[in-house]
Amino acid sequence: MGLNVVMMGPPGAGKGTQAGKFAKERGLPKISTGDILREAIKEQNPTALAAKERMDRGELVDDAMIISIVADRLARPDVKPGFVLDGFPRTVAQAQALDDLMDRLGSGPLIVVDVAVPEPELVKRLAGRRICSKCGTNAGSFDAASCGKCDGQLVQRADDDQDVVIERLRVYQQSTRPVLEYYRGRPTFREVNGAQAPERVASELNALIDNAAAAKR
Ligand SMILES: [Zn+2]
Repeated sequence: MGLNVVMMGPPGAGKGTQAGKFAKERGLPKISTGDILREAIKEQNPTALAAKERMDRGELVDDAMIISIVADRLARPDVKPGFVLDGFPRTVAQAQALDDLMDRLGSGPLIVVDVAVPEPELVKRLAGRRICSKCGTNAGSFDAASCGKCDGQLVQRADDDQDVVIERLRVYQQSTRPVLEYYRGRPTFREVNGAQAPERVASELNALIDNAAAAKR
């Protein structure tokens, strides 16, 4: 049975970074819907192409489409030892579909980890994110004066305007929060304090996941 991890957390919690780090350390594929979509589009997958068309028109991609794309990805042989899902499931319907899929694949229970960060801290983090106006590199630290790569001027990210940040968090609370409640009662659900230093979060995450893996039947 594989080490099947679902990484949850609001925007700005550092979930993607932690998911990538953990996956790399354990030699597991990190699967994000954005990455799968990009990959599938390259391979001219018809569902992915239809999904991209919708996104280009600014429309939401529906659950059925996302589920079908993720199901294709999880059927590949490289996920046998396990996987780290990042950014999926985002809705309860997607979470239920993932459970069905795991049953069908017979790949054992999911380990779900929530990277929890209080909302005021998230707003501070998201609104403070800056990007290089010349080369587009993300500013590594909040207090850097200029781009570490090309010395260009740092500006605030367009999508990190305060109102946009609050709207993103509202959307998260509304659609993804119920997914957490869907998983919370399970013996393999864990929560890590994401408001700590990233290295600290990473080491606690490692311990929590091993602990959950030992607890699963
Ligand atoms: Zn730069």
